[in-house]
Amino acid sequence: MPPIIEASHLGKTYRSGKLEVPALRDVTFAVEPGEFVSIVGPSGSGKSTLFYVLGGLTSPTAGTLTIRGQDFSRLSDAERTKLRRAHIGFVFQRFNLLPTISAADNIELAHEIADTGRPLDRALLDHLSELLGIKGRLDHRPNELSGGEQQRVAIARALITKPAIVLADEPTGNLDTQNSDAVLEMLRVSSRELGQTVLMITHNPEAAMIADR
Ligand code: ADP
Repeated sequence: MPPIIEASHLGKTYRSGKLEVPALRDVTFAVEPGEFVSIVGPSGSGKSTLFYVLGGLTSPTAGTLTIRGQDFSRLSDAERTKLRRAHIGFVFQRFNLLPTISAADNIELAHEIADTGRPLDRALLDHLSELLGIKGRLDHRPNELSGGEQQRVAIARALITKPAIVLADEPTGNLDTQNSDAVLEMLRVSSRELGQTVLMITHNPEAAMIADR
């Protein structure tokens, strides 16, 4: 199978006025479908920038990025958004749940926005809630949940659309050990059992060890 993600000589330089900040320089790698890869580096090394570029949230200033055989840079903004919504699930360090609606509604809304053309997979929602230990918490709003529970809801939200690719940026950054372990285990399940390609950004070498590479 061809790689699902191919980054070739990617670069990203931020410009503000006369100031140029090179955040990524000559980044080349490939990821196979179903692989779980962690991207490790100290703060300021460009991890988040890479995450935004891979997710199509910002454009690289050099090189090419091919996702599922499609050259991201050749797509229009609308096409890129469509590809992102249909095929990429995001998990952030800050859980970014909508505060005014329940956990279940947060998850369902993500499915609606993804506009996959498929109905919500109730069995998958059940399965994910079970695995993540949030079944009894689905009617609660984010402010009634602990940080760990919120992140587990955020993972269910990312996986409910059955994305081919899961991008996680420091998903355990705000969590205690027990919740970190649950989140990492779920990412492993996502790769091993659900066949998803997982890229996890972390500055924590221990968290990184759980990945295939
Ligand atoms: P990491 O996630 O590894 O901490 P980042 O990708 O956030 O690294 O940052 C890489 C470099 O790019 C840093 O020097 C940072 O200051 C700079 N940077 C990040 N975002 C911006 C931005 N929007 N404008 C200018 N410089 C930025």
